[in-house]
Amino acid sequence: MSCKACDKAQEDGDTYYVRVGRANVAVSGCREHANELIERLRSNPFETDEWRDYAKHAQDELLPKVRESAVSVALVPESGPDIKFLLELGTMIWYGKPILVLASEGRQVPDGLRRVATAVVQGDIGREEGRALLQEKLMQFLDDMPDE
Ligand SMILES: [Zn+2]
Repeated sequence: MSCKACDKAQEDGDTYYVRVGRANVAVSGCREHANELIERLRSNPFETDEWRDYAKHAQDELLPKVRESAVSVALVPESGPDIKFLLELGTMIWYGKPILVLASEGRQVPDGLRRVATAVVQGDIGREEGRALLQEKLMQFLDDMPDE
């Protein structure tokens, strides 16, 4: 990704600085190729303020919350794995917390998730009886926990 005009710009020390996320990047090259490079840098999702804010929020809020909790409850998302769920689950595994997996009735709970679960409870969260059953199983799960 360079041309004669790029080479000349580099020889001439023709450098300018552009903002990418929260950093300044020095760019040297012809207008076309420099723009191409800047576009590529700026479209990297991990170089955006949004990603940094999300990662910082997880670092500051989610990690301490999971680390300080006795038990983790993982509510299996209805529409397959979402990134927030996976981040929370990974944090629970990382800190070795007992994991209570809650899934709606009839929802397929993946084998890998069952393996890391301390207990799996399935019920109809949308109905009164379902919620009562979940409540009961949750209390039982908490009672079965060894005292620390
Ligand atoms: Zn060029």
